[in-house]
Amino acid sequence: MDQSLFADVIINVSVEALDRSFQYRIPESLADKITAGTKVTIPFGNGNRMTTGYVIKVSDKPAIEASRIKEIDSVCEKEIGIDDRMISLAFWMKEQFGSTANEALKCVIPVKKIVRNKQDKRILPAVTFERLKEEREKAEKKHYTAKFRLLTELISEYKEGLSEELVTGKFGVSRTTINALVRDGIIKVDEKITYRSSLGKAGEASEEDGTPWVTLNSEQQAVSDSIISDIREGKHEKYLIRGITGSGKTEVYMSVIDEVVASGKSVIMLIPEIALTYQTVKRFYKRFGDSISVINSRLSAGERYDQYLRAKNGEAKIVIGPRSAVFTPFDNLGLIVIDEEHEGSYKSELSPRYSTREVAFRRAETEGALVILGSATPSLESYSAVEAGRIKLFELTKRAGGAELPRVWITDLREELKNRNYSIFSLKLRELMLDRLQKKEQIMLFINRRGLSGFVNCRSCGHVIKCPHCDVSLNLHNNGKLICHYCGYEQAMVSKCPECGSPYIKAFGTGTQKVEELLNKEFPSAKVLRMDADTTRKKDSYSEILSQFANHEADILVGTQMIVKGHDFHKVTLVGILLADMSLYSSDYRSAEVTFQLLSQAAGRAGRGGVKGDVVIQTYNPEHYAVTCAALHDYEGFYKEEITFRRLMNYPPSRNMLKIVLSSEKEEQLLKETGKVRGELYRLIPDSPDSGTKLFGPSKAEIYRINDIYRMVFYIKSDDYSFLVSIKDFLSERETRDREIGLQFDFNPV
Ligand code: ADP
Ligand code: ZN
Ligand code: ZN
Repeated sequence: MDQSLFADVIINVSVEALDRSFQYRIPESLADKITAGTKVTIPFGNGNRMTTGYVIKVSDKPAIEASRIKEIDSVCEKEIGIDDRMISLAFWMKEQFGSTANEALKCVIPVKKIVRNKQDKRILPAVTFERLKEEREKAEKKHYTAKFRLLTELISEYKEGLSEELVTGKFGVSRTTINALVRDGIIKVDEKITYRSSLGKAGEASEEDGTPWVTLNSEQQAVSDSIISDIREGKHEKYLIRGITGSGKTEVYMSVIDEVVASGKSVIMLIPEIALTYQTVKRFYKRFGDSISVINSRLSAGERYDQYLRAKNGEAKIVIGPRSAVFTPFDNLGLIVIDEEHEGSYKSELSPRYSTREVAFRRAETEGALVILGSATPSLESYSAVEAGRIKLFELTKRAGGAELPRVWITDLREELKNRNYSIFSLKLRELMLDRLQKKEQIMLFINRRGLSGFVNCRSCGHVIKCPHCDVSLNLHNNGKLICHYCGYEQAMVSKCPECGSPYIKAFGTGTQKVEELLNKEFPSAKVLRMDADTTRKKDSYSEILSQFANHEADILVGTQMIVKGHDFHKVTLVGILLADMSLYSSDYRSAEVTFQLLSQAAGRAGRGGVKGDVVIQTYNPEHYAVTCAALHDYEGFYKEEITFRRLMNYPPSRNMLKIVLSSEKEEQLLKETGKVRGELYRLIPDSPDSGTKLFGPSKAEIYRINDIYRMVFYIKSDDYSFLVSIKDFLSERETRDREIGLQFDFNPV
């Protein structure tokens, strides 16, 4: 009798033709090394070329005649395998979000390679930030280019320092130069090698560490008590904490985390990368010390591997990181927190295009953990789940530090034009700016560039040209046509406003640079800093601009949404949003939600240091609920209006939406396949008003051609998610499918 064991292996290539498992015999010598999740080397194809793959299942039954089955060559010792649990999660993701098995498996592996911890030395500043800059200037004057280069890099990584390997390698700085700077006491070389490298300086004690942590106020305490009592009763629920920025959500998370860790379980704390600042990490470190592990995109492969090991062997109990940290392979997961849960970055932009929230729910359900979502402006998805009773809601209504909410002024840009104010600054904004400049307080001006892809509006009456079928704005394309990106509707560009007849109708586009120029002209004595994609191209410029502004080296900071998030500037008492409407009329059904979130967040920037602040929102739509509700800090009001719109238009979360993208370099072949898919889809989805499912398209993708690849899109809206999954499966497995045409799925796209 044959006692052999067999392994089902997924080949390590994301080619759809190979998107199935292949069976191999496990040689006796490897029998105790191979389980589901092990990465192996195998001969593949007619030529038996050696390739790699993941074992997903081990059994003692050959699927075909045993003698025809090839043997596994070896185990990839240097690579990390996948947990059993993570394999099932990967297959669930493949099913729910659409991808190849290999893509899904890769997605759940937190680190790919085993990288031994190098005895890495770090170069750290030994003097103040200002002194470092002086030294850099000196070096520049004397043309000490290596010194200048090192100091420049060090200024941008002032807190975390630089690895010596990087400095001597990539930056090409010699040891002589390093030694000279050490001798002068300007830098120091730190030889301590610890796992803690991921914390950087946040992992070191400092003078201000006197206070351990705050005492929760009664609101916070009530939330924490309620969740903790659920935990003690063995319930694994889902919670949403809605609380304005600064209301103390993080303190509540930490109090619950304490309980979970004390009960011997582990915690995943998700924070959008942009908000994963030094200050945030420091707070967690102060409270939980070395049991935290921080993952961010700047970690080297070695550091990443260290953090993986620490989580795996239980040394780290709390992993803090962005989206991908949701796959941390804890054996005894107790809690997943998703802070700023409404953030778009929680949706993956690569296949499988997963929703982190859905993955967290899935892990929590299968592993007996709880999930806490937190936000000042929860996503419509989460809040509607609260309404449906699937998530428990808690609210924090006050700012914990006692700071007051700012006054918000809405100025109507149509009125400004009527009053012959042709400036981009409304009279109210100008008045407040002059006041703050005189008082030496700081100002932030914010241009919302999201959706700046060419919506067309009338400067006289504010009218925006919309799609008659979809209620999103039409976008002006280079060919002079106005196009809807959802249904493909097209019309010619207009020369007069269809509402008021004014000829002042055009595509919008005011850049930050333009604003900076106008500021210099209209407020010549004010010092202005600008932050946008152009001024932050260099690696260190982002933090340099922020620290200049924090040090009050400028009066006004102009920027895109980059400046809205995360950072607290205590001297800022005025925030101006120059044109709130830009994101309001982007061609996306979520534009009102995004606008409301951005406005609420921008408003939260003013008056955080004890002084009451002012916010001016300039808009052509002073009556729009996204604007009025943000001004009143009224989430509920906003939600009611928005969910009504979504229900009316059958947009998520009221219905599910599947975006199907077909792509190819060969346009003709693409259009032919699109036509065939269209036929199949119309056969499956009857066009009747009461079917609960509706098909849109095909239409050209928002950007039809990228890198010479053309893309066509379909949208399907349905009240039944599993029906959409079945459409996805049908399309991927269709017999007549042209496999040269790329096929991608995005469920409930953002
Ligand atoms: P959120 O996460 O909701 O933005 P945080 O937890 O970051 O709020 O709290 C905002 C600020 O208020 C922090 O500086 C925090 O230390 C402080 N804070 C929070 N809770 C309290 C409290 N109960 N007493 C005093 N200060 C608090
Ligand atoms: Zn008009
Ligand atoms: Zn349309």
